[in-house]
Amino acid sequence: MKFLNASDESGLREECGVIGVFLKDEEKDAVPLIYRGLLSLQHRGQESAGIAAAKNKVIELRKGMGLVSEVFGQASLENVKGSAAIGHVRYSTAGASIIDNAQPFVSRFKLGSIAVAHNGTLTNADVVRELLEDSGIGFTSSSDSEVIINLIAKNYRKGLERALTDTIQFIKGSYALVVLTDDALVAARDPNGIRPLCLGALGDRGWIVASESCAIDEAGGALLRDVEPGEVVIINGEGLHSFTFSEKTTRAVCAFEFVYFARPDSIIDKVDVYGARIRAGKILARESPAPADLVIGVPDSGVPAAIGYGQALGVPYGLGIVKNKYIGRTFISPSQALREKAVLTKHNVIASEVRGKRVVIIDDSIVRGTTSKRLVAILRGAGAKEVHMRVCSPPVCCPCYFGIDTPHRKDLISNGASVQRVCQSIGADSLAFISVEGLLESLDGGPEAGYCLGCFTGEYPIPVPGEG
Ligand code: AMP
Repeated sequence: MKFLNASDESGLREECGVIGVFLKDEEKDAVPLIYRGLLSLQHRGQESAGIAAAKNKVIELRKGMGLVSEVFGQASLENVKGSAAIGHVRYSTAGASIIDNAQPFVSRFKLGSIAVAHNGTLTNADVVRELLEDSGIGFTSSSDSEVIINLIAKNYRKGLERALTDTIQFIKGSYALVVLTDDALVAARDPNGIRPLCLGALGDRGWIVASESCAIDEAGGALLRDVEPGEVVIINGEGLHSFTFSEKTTRAVCAFEFVYFARPDSIIDKVDVYGARIRAGKILARESPAPADLVIGVPDSGVPAAIGYGQALGVPYGLGIVKNKYIGRTFISPSQALREKAVLTKHNVIASEVRGKRVVIIDDSIVRGTTSKRLVAILRGAGAKEVHMRVCSPPVCCPCYFGIDTPHRKDLISNGASVQRVCQSIGADSLAFISVEGLLESLDGGPEAGYCLGCFTGEYPIPVPGEG
């Protein structure tokens, strides 16, 4: 995470993945489970990866730039072993792609050592950092996550629980945190639960916490439950206990996790991501049916919604678009020219599938419009008779301040533009987005569910300096 400067919308925001494992048997090594868990969280961050492990009251750390498989070659984990460990994958925009900002962060001090891995963005990090710097505490990175570790370290003499509570009550924004001490694993989630974090059991061997349940599946564990908004879970040799650190908790889980970020095989806050995407497609079909011979989805996150859309209208679903999986993230390329080039290589059409047909193409979102413009053009180029675009999130017209990378407000194609204007600009025959109500209906998470819809509505669960 980087410091958020709300007056500067170019501020970096990022999505990350975190994981922690605690094994009861001190002789066992948790690191291979963390490594495999990070592989399954790779979609949440591809810029850097790191693992910290605690053994005999010493925390060892390995981190580096690149994919999990690149950072942890065969030999690199030989000296990082321990029955408790945490890991992190990071995704940020190009500017701050430096090793200093890679996580976990480790702090070694008189009373012990701690390591922290964080997904989210603090909205008051600059203020807290200034206070810490004024009291003589130094920083080695531009990351707001370092604020968290320094606050815990500063309060550590009060005992772990107090240190955590004091820290958490000081920081504002979104955080799914895993913390490793010499002898404990801690998981904590902000009072709105904006970023996901869940808890699993590894049979009678121990526990696992992770951003998404797909990492628990990978470890052969069983999903127990989500870490609740405002909850701290502490796992140590005596077992697991938890407490709520915030009296006021209002669930506001990021809806974009379900739309785009999370893996479809994950369950977040009791909602199965794949099911939610299928439902979104069906609702979109009900709200905005299109005259079509074929429904196709933009891989990967548009595919389940396309299946649902096709099922609801009785129109066949086909694989009309192929994605090159080795291209990296077009979305975060530093310039529009580079993004357009990358998008060109990223998708291709199966011409024989779309030629002469009225095609409905479903994507999870339109942000700048680069992807949809290109897709409409290549579908027409391949001979599609009509191209109707349907989107299973509402128009993205406001920045995210809580952990997802969104461009400047002025670069969001739907900011201040009508659907008709966006349709003209991407060159489609028709365009429709799911409604906010429709999206909420798709996220059928039970009566207690609440979602952050800030990027669609501009209404944020916590006040953001400089916003409404
Ligand atoms: P754009 O081309 O700017 O309109 O972006 C929309 C495309 O980027 C869609 O195909 C999404 O699947 C994808 N996308 C949406 N949000 C993000 C994000 N935060 N990071 C990376 N890709 C995204």
